[in-house]
Amino acid sequence: MRTLIRGGRVIDPASGRDEVADVAIANGRIQAIGDAPGDFGADRVIDADGLVVCPGLVDMHVHLREPGQEWKEDIESGSRAAAAGGVTSVACMANTRPVNDRRSVTEQIKSTAQRVGLSRVHPIGAITRDLAGETLTEMHELAGAGCVAFSDDGRPVPDAGIMRRALEYAATFDYLLILHEEEGALSAGGAMNEGAHATRMGLPGIPNASEDVMIARDVILAELTGGRIHIAHVATSGGVELIRQAQARGLPVTGEAAPHHLFLTDTDVGAFDSHAKMAPPLRSPEDRAAVRAAVADGTLTAIATDHAPHEADAKSEAFACCANGVTGLETLLGLTLRLVDEEVLDLPSALARVTNGPAEVLGLEAGRLGVGEVADVCLFDPETEWTVEPERMYSRSVNTPFAGWRLRGRVTHTLVGGRLAYPFGDAE
Ligand SMILES: [Zn+2]
Repeated sequence: MRTLIRGGRVIDPASGRDEVADVAIANGRIQAIGDAPGDFGADRVIDADGLVVCPGLVDMHVHLREPGQEWKEDIESGSRAAAAGGVTSVACMANTRPVNDRRSVTEQIKSTAQRVGLSRVHPIGAITRDLAGETLTEMHELAGAGCVAFSDDGRPVPDAGIMRRALEYAATFDYLLILHEEEGALSAGGAMNEGAHATRMGLPGIPNASEDVMIARDVILAELTGGRIHIAHVATSGGVELIRQAQARGLPVTGEAAPHHLFLTDTDVGAFDSHAKMAPPLRSPEDRAAVRAAVADGTLTAIATDHAPHEADAKSEAFACCANGVTGLETLLGLTLRLVDEEVLDLPSALARVTNGPAEVLGLEAGRLGVGEVADVCLFDPETEWTVEPERMYSRSVNTPFAGWRLRGRVTHTLVGGRLAYPFGDAE
C-alpha cells in the first residue's frame, strides 16, 4: 500500500520542519517529504489541505486493564481509543491482574495488541513482584520479552533500600524506572489535595509533601546509583523544582505532566465530583501554574494521559472511597492544543510534548516524521471545534472530568506503519 498525503502542514518537532508539503509513504515508512519520487504511484491519496500532518502521538502512561479487568477497558477498546485520538504508540502500565511482573503477561499483551493492530503497544514491567514493594522482578527477562521501562505505577516503592537495589540493577542495563511518587504515611486516608477546599468539604487531605519527599528521595537515589528515573504525573510546584534542580546537576531525571493537572485544580472537585478524583490529586492554582511552566520550559518533556478507565460503578461510590483516575486518550490532542490557545506553548513545542518528547524518554523509534522513519502519522484539522461527549468515545470507560468542554483540533486520520488505523473500517 502506497499512500500520498497531499498538501498538509507538515510539522515534525524533532527536526524543526514546519512547511506545507506532500508526504509519500511506502512499505510502512516515509519515503519522501516534499516531491514524491517520479515513479511513486499512490494506491491511496489523502487530501490534507488545511490539515496538520504530524508524527503519531506517543502516550507513555496508559492503563489498558487487560489482562484482568476487561470490563473497564481491554487492549482492543484501548487501541481504538488511541487511534481515534491520534495516538500511535501506547506504553501500558503493569498494574494488570495478574500484574505484568512476568514474561507470560508481557507476551500476552504484545500478541493481543498485534492482533488488534491499531496501535503500537509497549508494555511497562513491574519493578517489584505483584507491585508489593518487596521483591524485585526479573527486569532483564521482562525487557527481553518486550518491556520498555519499569514501574509500579499506581503505587510508590515505599522501601528506600528496595528502590536503591532496583536502581542499581536498572543502571547496569540502562533501564528506565518510571516512578509514582507518594509517601504512604503522608497520603494515608487522603481523598484530595490538602488545603482550604478539602477543609470546607470535610475531606481528609493529601499534602504536597507526600509527592515532594519521594521525588527528593528518588533523585538522591538516582544520583547514588547512576540509575535513570522518570517522574510520572508531576503535580506539585515543589516536585517541579526538585526535577529542575536534578537536571541542572546533570542527573538523568525526566518527568511528565498529565492533562488534568495542566487544566484543573482542587476546586474542580466541586461538589464531590468523582471524575476529579485521582492520584496524585488535583492541586492548587499555584501548582498548576508551576506544572505548566515546566512543560513550557522543557523541564517536563512529555504530556502523558495516565489514561485510567473505570466503569461507572467504581466512580459512583462516596468520593472518599471511589476509584482514582480519568480517561485521556481521546482528549490528549485537543487539550494539548488548548495549551497553544492559552499561549503556554507554540504549536510545534506542544506537539513535541506528545511525540518525540515521550518517545525519547522511552527510547522508542517513534514520534518523528522524517524520511526513512516509520509511517506513524496523525492528521488533524486544527480549526474544527468539538465537544467532549463521553457517549461518543471509544474507550470502554468514559470517566472524564472534561465532558462538555469545547476543544479545538479534531483528528481526521491516524496511520500506523502506513496503514490506516483511524477512521476505522478502512479496507486495505
Ligand atoms: Zn498511572
